[in-house]
Amino acid sequence: MEASMGDDATLACADCGEPIDDPALERGYLFAEDQVLCYACAVARGGAYDELDDRWTAVPNLRGLFPDGDADFGSRGVAP
Ligand SMILES: [Zn+2]
Repeated sequence: MEASMGDDATLACADCGEPIDDPALERGYLFAEDQVLCYACAVARGGAYDELDDRWTAVPNLRGLFPDGDADFGSRGVAP
């Protein structure tokens, strides 16, 4: 019997939408408690993973991934 931690047993990458069964095994980057980035997206956003330490040493840019807006990340007024 599996322990349920939320509405869905399977997470999906907040960026590309790829299903992530186990972020710990697939090196997903967890954020905002119930969101996750797949490894490829996290790295593409500037994240760096230390395989020896088994942890993220550089945090990916999470801009635009929050459903309630990203005002906290100061994305407004930034020209591309
Ligand atoms: Zn992804």
